[in-house]
Amino acid sequence: MKLTILGCHSATPKENKHTTSQLLEVKGKFFLIDCGEGTQIQLRKLKIKFSLIQHIFISHLHGDHFYGLIGLISTFRLLGRTTQLNIYGPKGIKEIITLQLKMSNSWTDYSLHFHELSSPNSEKIFEDDTICVSTLPLDHRIYTNGFLFTTKTVKRKINSKATESLNLEPFHYSQLQNGLDIELANGIFKENKELTLNPEPSKKYAYCSDTAYNKKLISLIKGVDLLYHEATFLEKHADLAKKTKHSTALQAAKIANSANVKKLLLGHYSNRYSDKKDFIKEASTVFESILLSEDLKTYSI
Ligand SMILES: [Zn+2]
Repeated sequence: MKLTILGCHSATPKENKHTTSQLLEVKGKFFLIDCGEGTQIQLRKLKIKFSLIQHIFISHLHGDHFYGLIGLISTFRLLGRTTQLNIYGPKGIKEIITLQLKMSNSWTDYSLHFHELSSPNSEKIFEDDTICVSTLPLDHRIYTNGFLFTTKTVKRKINSKATESLNLEPFHYSQLQNGLDIELANGIFKENKELTLNPEPSKKYAYCSDTAYNKKLISLIKGVDLLYHEATFLEKHADLAKKTKHSTALQAAKIANSANVKKLLLGHYSNRYSDKKDFIKEASTVFESILLSEDLKTYSI
């Protein structure tokens, strides 16, 4: 998986400070997570072919997480999109978008499919042959979900050095990829492990924004390869974090530590802080492996 941060700031967009949006690439497929104002401009900078984005996941209906969505939908239409677009988000998102399309008489020629969410519990919302996506219920001022992306383990890899002299038939390769031992034409048995290599292990990415410190998250994100957790505030503004149901950098690190994640990526910074290093300083008192998200930076998972 490859994660590109399109925007990692909270509240209002500013010059060179974009509100929340992320692009996750999984084996050539692109998943958009949240869509703050100006997301389409950020996507243009990455030169992403828009039609490759077929699934958009919206965490909640605060403007800094979805005010870019109607613009993106409109641009897709103007560019002549024909492929279906799937939007996953809180109940009400269909009504908001549909009203805007109706009042501007700008219905799309492509199919817009809404998957509205209202469950307070984690649920699987998307699955294909490479990835599974489930919700992570968050604790915010309005109904909010994070998202957990889990890649599926692929078939075993053929060890071509070990198989080249064996004159295998196509069905042998399929048996080997599925983990089976094989019988050669001369009656000799070969064990699967002699002829194959382990596949890449499944990878997990957890996206958690926006949320107050929420211990219920811990069991849902245990051991993920990368956790994006919002850190809107520093501890010196812990009272504000509590009031607005956001987290501090220290609280994000405590969640990462308790969930034993491999890496923590901080973001959703309040514009009041000029030096982002203070976020690392604060979080690293309880957790070691910390990254600071930056607009247009890509992270391998
Ligand atoms: Zn919010």
